[in-house]
Amino acid sequence: MTSVVHVTTAETETAETETRSGAEPTNAKYVYAFAEGGREMADELGGKGANLAEMTRLGLPVPPGFTISTAACRYYLENGSAPPELADQVANALTDLEAARGKKLGDPTDPLLVSVRSGSRFSMPGMMETVLDIGLNDHSVHGLAAIAGDERFAWDSYRRLIQMFGKTVLEIDGDRFEVILRRAMTRAGVSADTELDVDSLRAVVEDFKRVVSECTGQDFPQQPQRQLDLAVLAVFRSWNTERAVLYRRQERIPGWLGTAVNIQAMAFGNVGEGSGTGVAFTRDPGSGARGVYGDYLSDAQGEDVVAGIRNTLPLSALGDLDSKSYQQLLDIMSTLEQHYRDLCDIEFTVEQGHLWMLQTRVGKRTAGAAFRIAVQLVDEGIIDMDEALRRVSGHQLGQLMFPTFDVSSESAAIAKGMNASPGAAVGQAVFDSSSAVKRAEDGERVILVRRETNPDDLEGMVAAEGVLTSRGGKTSHAAVVARGMGKTAVCGADSLDVDTVARNMTTRTGLVISEGDVISIDGTTGEVFLGEVAVMPSPVARYFEEGLESALGALSSEPGDVEMAELVRSVDRIMSHADKVRRLQVRANADTPEDAARGRRMGAEGIGLLRTEHMFLGERRALVERLILASEDDEREEALKALLPLQRKDFIRILEQMDGLPVTIRLIDPPLHEFLPDRTELAVRVARAEERGEHIESDLRLLQAVNRLNESNPMLGLRGVRLGLVLPGLFALQVRAIAEAACFRQRMGGDPQAEIMVPLVGSIQELELVIDEAAGVLASVAEAHGCTLRFPIGTMIELPRAALTAGQIAEAAEFFSFGTNDLTQTTWGFSRDDVEAAFFSAYLEKGVFGVSPFESIDREGVGELIKIAVAAGRKTRPDLHCGVCGEHGGDPESVHFFDEVGLDYVSCSPFRVPVARLEAGRSAL
Ligand code: ADP
Ligand code: MG
Ligand code: MG
Repeated sequence: MTSVVHVTTAETETAETETRSGAEPTNAKYVYAFAEGGREMADELGGKGANLAEMTRLGLPVPPGFTISTAACRYYLENGSAPPELADQVANALTDLEAARGKKLGDPTDPLLVSVRSGSRFSMPGMMETVLDIGLNDHSVHGLAAIAGDERFAWDSYRRLIQMFGKTVLEIDGDRFEVILRRAMTRAGVSADTELDVDSLRAVVEDFKRVVSECTGQDFPQQPQRQLDLAVLAVFRSWNTERAVLYRRQERIPGWLGTAVNIQAMAFGNVGEGSGTGVAFTRDPGSGARGVYGDYLSDAQGEDVVAGIRNTLPLSALGDLDSKSYQQLLDIMSTLEQHYRDLCDIEFTVEQGHLWMLQTRVGKRTAGAAFRIAVQLVDEGIIDMDEALRRVSGHQLGQLMFPTFDVSSESAAIAKGMNASPGAAVGQAVFDSSSAVKRAEDGERVILVRRETNPDDLEGMVAAEGVLTSRGGKTSHAAVVARGMGKTAVCGADSLDVDTVARNMTTRTGLVISEGDVISIDGTTGEVFLGEVAVMPSPVARYFEEGLESALGALSSEPGDVEMAELVRSVDRIMSHADKVRRLQVRANADTPEDAARGRRMGAEGIGLLRTEHMFLGERRALVERLILASEDDEREEALKALLPLQRKDFIRILEQMDGLPVTIRLIDPPLHEFLPDRTELAVRVARAEERGEHIESDLRLLQAVNRLNESNPMLGLRGVRLGLVLPGLFALQVRAIAEAACFRQRMGGDPQAEIMVPLVGSIQELELVIDEAAGVLASVAEAHGCTLRFPIGTMIELPRAALTAGQIAEAAEFFSFGTNDLTQTTWGFSRDDVEAAFFSAYLEKGVFGVSPFESIDREGVGELIKIAVAAGRKTRPDLHCGVCGEHGGDPESVHFFDEVGLDYVSCSPFRVPVARLEAGRSAL
């Protein structure tokens, strides 16, 4: 019999169709035996297939099998049928597999059973389908029983096949099977599926088959070949299920890749107590602690471990049950770690004392574990510091700087589970995915509470601050997915009785928590609290703020703190390396002396953006009002005179904090109306006064001015350099304040390094006018105070016109600083405040944006303008200093771009400075 994987989506009932006419076979290779592949082939074989091949190559005990490539899946998704070459190639590979095992698929006396497993280039845990025990039918189930000498095992495998096949291939609601199984257990008076006897299992199989006939109008397919073919196509199709599509969007995995399909001889973990199945990690993926760990379940198959069906044992328990297999497993784990030079995540099965490896991959890990493991591997001589730096990310570093719960707070935990994914999350308890989504859309913070999660809960997990489950361990679905998303999770809090129908949960002491009640979960300790718990800053943040000694000094000798200390030291070593290798400099955006000091502590090498607008707010607003409303020169002069000492003092304090480092001071930027009273309020006030027959002259004048200055598009209106050019004396005042502050600092023995930056320039003429005026002011201050002032004067590049005429502008500008926020707005022609809420989610959904251009720089559009401007600017002025200010400077992706295009520095908020330093280091590698 030959394989016939020629079924189209619409033809699943008639599997035995001919090769589709018109599709000419080519010599494309779609099928690879495990022995032919290797981990370098992950694009074709998917991660799982490539690593199964790699383990086979290493001589590890892997059940034999072969992989259908991702190219076959792409062909199927495009054409609606499998490629014509596939059937023969699968048939040949299957013949080899049968020979290797000495068994035949469908043999009624000694059947070969196989699993059909999905596996794409990037791990998508639980997103796609896998079917186990393919090859069983009404006849071969007897053969299997006889060969194994275990009838129970054979019938258990058969019911598993119908259940998995029914659910995933035939798309029957899984509950239909669950109900039957549970009823059988109740009838037999047992609490676990392993306790069902042969007769019960036979009855279950009969009932399962009846469900299949009822739901599909056809009998459960008895030919093993047909089971196999249908399962392969089901795996192809599972690439495009809603949950898989959602997961890919979340993880930014391209949709065109497709999945591979692995067909592998079964290893049986369900042949009684001496068998079992488990998952393991070579180090703790939660904390990064050294030492193996995992979960094991006796007399079980495949997904039983992660599904939280029965309570698992810790991996070490296998040592007591079967020390030979355990020792062999430990050896293999260490081989794999040496080989992959990283934390490995493993699936294995023990079949009657024989260990089989079923999967490995470089394991996902929490942010903290990533830093600790990278440095551990350096110390173990497995990788070098460059590699350690590659293994961590700015995104992870950002996570580590988040606060955790204040342990000294009075709250007592109401339950405790596994610390599955660290962090501190507070929110309203919700008991299903759609409520989580709904409440989150209403702006509430929620915690998704489930008995256990499954892939259908993904949307709810995305919407929630954190996840709490009452079943399952650190390797359960909830735990794995939450860690991948960087979400807080507590799993297996088994003292909680979660009732998803009543939408509440009950603690052991009888406390009932209903939907909407606020709870706090601690993913680092596994504790669950009622109400909102206070949070505490992170030791990593403290390390950046106060230095290594202080951060370590604040930690105790408690085990948790000792681990934290290792983490802080690891961060310190990786940061030092990043600073050593990076080319790009990092500055902070700071408007106050406090922020400036903070940025400096965080490692900023200057201030890239000092906004001067706040210096005109608060009690100074009245002076600005006078300045704007002045009709006589005298009045204006007076207001300016009053503002001068205030500004000077501000600059002195900041230059003092940043002594010796550059401080880029941006002259006033925002539109005038921001300094004036609200137009409507003022109009109402004037109208009311007039009704009363009063006439308040000052209000009237103010209203006239506000009306005159009213703009329908303030973002594109009278602001930046335009304002400086039309409001006499304003820029000159600021330049004077800067100059006098610098003279003062010099007299005090300081080293002030001010740079003056002109905002919103579109043409060189604008800049030249400002520079002329500034030069006069600087010269007169220098002379008056007898000091030398040599400040670079440069411009922001935040308009497309400035970028396009950068060659000219550089004749006047001594430096460029890209204002990427405004440049994004003006390049796209939208204003952030107006568009983000209005249509960004639709644009992200429709794929117009992969990510918001305000979060990560739009390389093709805005990025291209930056490239043009840098090149043209440096052509005019080869030593032109170029930087970027704006939040893009702290975004990991964007930092790499700015490094690539040759900017000298990025500037971002003080808290993001460490992230930018780290990414600048990674970018240099
Ligand atoms: P996923 O990608 O969701 O992890 P897998 O393909 O790894 O799905 O399969 C699900 C479960 O079935 C895993 O626990 C795996 O170890 C088990 N499994 C897969 N193939 C076999 C096999 N040939 N023998 C025994 N167990 C298997
Ligand atoms: Mg797996
Ligand atoms: Mg701007």
